[in-house]
Amino acid sequence: MKILASTWVLTCDENFSIIHDGAVVFTDKIIEIDYKERIQKKYPDIEITQLEENSVLMPGLVNSHVHLEFSANSSTLKYGNFMDWLDSVIKNREELINKANNEVINAQLKKIQKTGTTTIGAISSYGFELEACAKSNLNVVYFNEVIGSKPDMIDTLFSDFKARLNNSKKYASNRFFPAIAIHSPYSVHPILLQHCLNIARNEDLAVSSHFLESPQEHQWLHKNEGGFLNFFKNFLGQEKAVTKPMEFLNTFSGIKKLSFTHCVETKKEELEKIKSLGAYINHCPTSNRLLNNNKLDLTKIKDIKFSIGTDGLSSNNSLSMFDELRNALMIHTEENCVDLSKKLLRAATFKGSRALGLNNKGSIQKDYDADMICIKMPDKVESIDDLALNIILHTKFVKQMYIGGEIV
Ligand SMILES: [Zn+2]
Repeated sequence: MKILASTWVLTCDENFSIIHDGAVVFTDKIIEIDYKERIQKKYPDIEITQLEENSVLMPGLVNSHVHLEFSANSSTLKYGNFMDWLDSVIKNREELINKANNEVINAQLKKIQKTGTTTIGAISSYGFELEACAKSNLNVVYFNEVIGSKPDMIDTLFSDFKARLNNSKKYASNRFFPAIAIHSPYSVHPILLQHCLNIARNEDLAVSSHFLESPQEHQWLHKNEGGFLNFFKNFLGQEKAVTKPMEFLNTFSGIKKLSFTHCVETKKEELEKIKSLGAYINHCPTSNRLLNNNKLDLTKIKDIKFSIGTDGLSSNNSLSMFDELRNALMIHTEENCVDLSKKLLRAATFKGSRALGLNNKGSIQKDYDADMICIKMPDKVESIDDLALNIILHTKFVKQMYIGGEIV
């Protein structure tokens, strides 16, 4: 049993409780949280490790959506327009994927850790980052992604998907969770989608899908026109979308651990459906900005839960969640920054873990996994109300990290 004491203990629980001069008792799970004075009296024989002045102890961050296989991109891909970006991905994909060897991916995993993330939802297109993820210190929900809209390819693509999924299952543990990713409504044939979702239902696996990321996707799915028309004609000989947004969403009924990424073009009816599915929205503000897509309207998704993801380095310059949170804070000018900061930290911890189907992470609460980070504020924080904002503004790296109660 260990005890850590800190100037501030930020629980990220339902009420966003913060304890000044608090302490946390833990093994691999959190046992108790209270004021340091009271913990001292209750556990007189256990040595308390006091973190330095102006320290914050809080749950490790959860990056609910990242593509590590694109970690070799920095300045290769074209930003500023979704179709131009997609063309540049197709043109440079092979070279970028080949460049993203174990060394490159391990370096990014280390950075992710140093910048305070204890859990990631990793979308895997090829399975090339499997070993690096499984061997890392992080908790990983590993989403094997399926893609393919051509009917004559369904059997081949489904076999390939199953092989990757089965391979990832070999690494399953209390830190590594095989899961299923659907690329998007425009790129996955409804029959292929059904097959994959049946596996998820039978095995209770987490599922995630990109959904309505760009205006072009919205136009294509609703009207079979716009920027995607030429793309599908040229690459796949298709002139019609394989599904409509609502049909697509309906297919996910009965999936218990479910999230949709981006959703910036979702309209009222689709949002209602996402809500009734009990799904989370993975919000990736930097990626949306760089591809010049719209931003998620937080006022419209009020009663739908959202988490935060960095997306991959294919559409971001950083996989640090604190960088992402700063961007989110600056982008959502419609919200008060003090209130928004609290919402964002909840989204990046508690809600992120729920989006990934992990129910005992993302908060410092009794019986939760002891995944915690220690950070230091540059100076005294006068108002408890401003603590969340100051954490987001000032944190680049963490001082220490605990995963499952152990220092990593
Ligand atoms: Zn993505």
